[in-house]
Parts: sequence; C-alpha cells; structure tokens
Amino acid sequence: ERSMDPPKIHRLEDSVINRIAAGEVIQRPVSAVKELIENSIDAASSSINVVVKDGGLKLIQVSDDGHGIRYEDLPILCERHTTSKLSVFEDLQTIKSMGFRGEALASMTYVAHVTVTTITKGQLHGYRVSYRDGVMEHEPKACAAVKGTQIMVENLFYNMMARKKTLQNSSDDYTKIVDVISRFAVHHTNISFSCKKHGAARADVHSVATSSKLDAIKSIYGVSVARDLMEVTASGEDPSSSFFKMQGLISNSNYSAKKMTMILYINDRLVECAALKRAIEVVYAATLPKASKPFVYMSITLPPEHVDVNVHPTKREVSLLNQESIVENIQSTIESMLRSSNSTRTFHTQV
Ligand code: ADP
Ligand code: MG
Repeated sequence: ERSMDPPKIHRLEDSVINRIAAGEVIQRPVSAVKELIENSIDAASSSINVVVKDGGLKLIQVSDDGHGIRYEDLPILCERHTTSKLSVFEDLQTIKSMGFRGEALASMTYVAHVTVTTITKGQLHGYRVSYRDGVMEHEPKACAAVKGTQIMVENLFYNMMARKKTLQNSSDDYTKIVDVISRFAVHHTNISFSCKKHGAARADVHSVATSSKLDAIKSIYGVSVARDLMEVTASGEDPSSSFFKMQGLISNSNYSAKKMTMILYINDRLVECAALKRAIEVVYAATLPKASKPFVYMSITLPPEHVDVNVHPTKREVSLLNQESIVENIQSTIESMLRSSNSTRTFHTQV
C-alpha cells in the first residue's frame, strides 16, 4: 500500500547542483572544445591549436596566442558566473563576444581536472594553476610560457560514470571535434587553427590565415568541394521587421554528397537553425535532378536586438525575430540561383 505522507523537500548541496548544471553545459568532449575555442577567439587570438587524446576523454588541450588572463583573476577564473565579458543583463543585447555567462570553465572543473597556463603582455613568466570543483587547488606557480593561454582538460566525466561509459562506446567524438574546428576555421579566416591527436605527427585540421572564405573551404574541405560552390547573397530591407544580410557559399548542381553540410553563423556565432537547414534541403531536392545533398556555408547578420543568444544551455541555438520571413527570403534566393545554374550546367567531373 502506498504511503500518503508527503515526502520531505530538502535543499540540494551546492556540489550536486553544480555537477548537474555542468553536465548540461558540457554534454560531450566536443562541447568543451567548442567553449575553449570560443574563449580563445574572444581573447583575440590569431592562432589556436588543439590536441586530443582518447576522443577528448583523457585530454583536451587548447593553446592560443590571445591576451592571456591577469594573475589577479586566477583565483576566481573557474568559479561559476565569473566573466570579463558581461556586466549587466542589458549587455546581452549588444554583446559581441561568444561567451557571456562565465559558466564554461567552471563547468569543466566540476566534471574534469582543469589546468591553466597563461601569460599576459609584458610579463617575464607565466603562471600555471589547476582547478577542481570551481576552486584553485594551489597558489599559481610561476612557469615559462609563450604568448597566450593554454587550457588542459583531463579525465573528462571522471565523476559521471554513466556519461563516460556511453561516450567510450561511441568513438566518434574525435570526428565531431575535427568537424567543429573545421566550421570555426571556415568563418574565422583571420585565425589559423590546427587539431591533432595526442602524439600524432600530422594535424587532421590545419588552416592558415587567409582573407577568403573560399580559400579556407578549399584548404579544409578540399578542392573538389570548393570548385563546386557559388556565392550567394540576400537581404531583407525593412528595418522594423526583417532586416538582415546574408552572405554565403552554396554548392551547385555539379556537387554531390550523401549528407548535407550546413555551416551557419548568425552574428558571428556558430549556431544551428533546423528550420533554415530544412528549407534549403527542400529547395535542393526539388530543383536539382540528382539526389545530392548540398554544402552550405552561410553568414547572417541581424541587428543584435533581433537575436536572443540566451536560449540554449550550449548556446547551440539562437532565436531570431521574424525567423519565418528570413527563411523564406533565403529559400527563394537559393531557388532562383539553382534554377539558373542548373540550366547552365557544366560537366567538368566527367571526361
Ligand atoms: P565566459 O566566456 O562566458 O566569460 P568562461 O568560463 O568561458 O566564461 O571564461 C571565464 C573568463 O575567463 C572569461 O570571461 C575570460 O575573461 C577568461 N578566459 C577564459 N579563457 C580564456 C583564454 N583562452 N584567454 C584569455 N582569457 C580567457
Ligand atoms: Mg567562454
């Protein structure tokens, strides 16, 4: 027989709260890589190098040549809600940095062992310090360092056995990491990126700074992809409702792939938009004879007050004002481009 006594409600310990929250922000190794790279980009880096061991479960190491972290800030660096990027809520409306919540580094320390090495301009040496559960494990130690910051995340999910087990069985996280770095490299063409497995001689992603998105795609995705891309632009003119600008590179009728690649930036944030992706996929399926999936790189800019960046724990999605009319506009632009390219189809792949 079921007892009708109401259960007692109690307050969770902070350590439990923090670990649960961290598990939402850092869902898998690739989420940590994305956050660390965003921090390096926010730090005005021109070079970002990633080393990964065991799909990211043993080690994720991100080194940059950015502005570094002040010695005085090291004690609170990995506490939850400590940031140099946001002060008042209203800042969210105009924020240019990718980070704003001061949650990423803290989250990593609740589910992994984090070591930071950093040096700021004009200093003779850097500092190294390790963190656990939000706090410094010891005083920062002086050490030799080159320009910028290196963050090591070790033994990810050491205290979340179920998560660790599921990830160990699916060995595709390194692929996801390479994929996300490739996406960053296509858009942030002024930064050189590399990614390799620990101990490997060769990098699996290696981009050099260039001024052209097409060149970046060529070096990351290959000549055969870059050759079959065409430039696309669209814009909405009504400032009160659907003002936006879009620039991109999309595959033509010669391109053939089994899976769609969609690299989407909205106000310089790498995001996903299921509605837009679907709309583009539908246009390709309806316009092109082959059942080929498209390659799409697209950068959309909107007035910052039309974008809500704070809708997803991993910041993967943003919500847009007038999303429907923007999607429709882009869809019809692509449709007319494909129709005209299809009628002037070339066959350079066939001899
Ligand atoms: P957020 O990016 O939301 O501010 P994070 O937890 O990711 O929060 O980082 C906290 C702070 O640590 C940042 O605001 C930034 O000042 C500093 N920081 C993190 N990574 C770097 C880095 N690679 N270079 C310089 N500063 C960094
Ligand atoms: Mg951040």
